[in-house]
Amino acid sequence: MEFRDLKKQYQVLKAEIDEGVLAAMASGAYILGKPVQELEEKLAAYAGRKHCVAVANGTDALQLSLMAYDVGPGDAVFTSDFTYFASAGSASIIGATPVLVDIDPATFNISPEDLEKKIQAVLAEGKLTPKFIVPVDLFGLPADFTRILPIAAKYGLKVLEDGAQGFGGAINGKRACSFGDISTTSFFPAKPLGCYGDGGAIFTDDDEIDARLRSLRAQGKSPADKYDNREIGMNSRLDTLQAAVLLPKLRAFEAYEVEAVNKVADTYTAALKDKVVTPTIPEGFYSSWAQYTLMLDSKETRDRVQKALKAKGIPTMVYYPRGLHQQAAYAWMNLSDEAFPHTTKATQCVLSLPMHPYMEPDEQKYIIDSLLEVL
Ligand SMILES: *Cc1c(COP(=O)(O)O)cnc(C)c1O
Repeated sequence: MEFRDLKKQYQVLKAEIDEGVLAAMASGAYILGKPVQELEEKLAAYAGRKHCVAVANGTDALQLSLMAYDVGPGDAVFTSDFTYFASAGSASIIGATPVLVDIDPATFNISPEDLEKKIQAVLAEGKLTPKFIVPVDLFGLPADFTRILPIAAKYGLKVLEDGAQGFGGAINGKRACSFGDISTTSFFPAKPLGCYGDGGAIFTDDDEIDARLRSLRAQGKSPADKYDNREIGMNSRLDTLQAAVLLPKLRAFEAYEVEAVNKVADTYTAALKDKVVTPTIPEGFYSSWAQYTLMLDSKETRDRVQKALKAKGIPTMVYYPRGLHQQAAYAWMNLSDEAFPHTTKATQCVLSLPMHPYMEPDEQKYIIDSLLEVL
């Protein structure tokens, strides 16, 4: 059994993917070729944004977004403590200072209450200038933008939605990667919409930011002349081959995959909700289920259940075993577990189950029956 069965997805979409990949190889345009432009248009339309800029990966997408707003040394960037490292690392690498925020224990997403506290603390200290909030759509569930956007407005901060795991989710029908000033996603293979290598994208409604991003992803070149470099940028472009993989995958994603993972999630929740803490999806929110994550009652139970499932041939994962405040790279922040109680508890008790749109009912029944037995 696979945790996320990418090989099965390929078998289903093989004819279309192979055709696109072979055409890309014959085309001679291997970087930012025509399929990349077509993909950018389709992704922007899907997310409900004016522009999409395809880049090399989701980490670069975050970094380029902050660069496009001139974020740098002396600036505070508020993000969740319970996320993949890049949500904060992308700010650190350009000299800005990540300020970590604890999570809401029910949704695992950034806590609006703690966010406001942390903004006020930075203002009171007076050393850093609050610039950006980077809410993460963790496990496929959009962050609580209904509460975060008013906080951003109150303190004059910009919002960068880290939608690496959130593509396909929505709040009251408004899709992920359309929230805040700018949004990003990742096409790492195991994300809700993945390619066959690295890839990422940035979404914006702002024409000037769009133009600046197209320059920044290509060494700060001018629009007319690639050897006329206006500022320091990156080399972060999407390969044509990856766009050829993503185009048919986006069609399947839109036609049935997001619906299919929601059915799998509903089946898990119906069978497990009386025995264990299942994911919370607030009213009006829609998840694309990058992960289906349970909360067990202790680290001992979590580790025991994971081991017992493994013995039955069922792969599970711990996302994430550490909060960012526990990372060696951020030891200089000197942050205690007590200051991040909800993240700390989550790192000890979470367990993600196999989840993908091609899961067979008998496969899922085996997982559920095994889990109930082990519990
Ligand atoms: C995967 C991920 C990223 C980074 O994406 P890459 O394409 O791997 O660089 C950033 N943020 C979050 C929340 C992620 O899950």
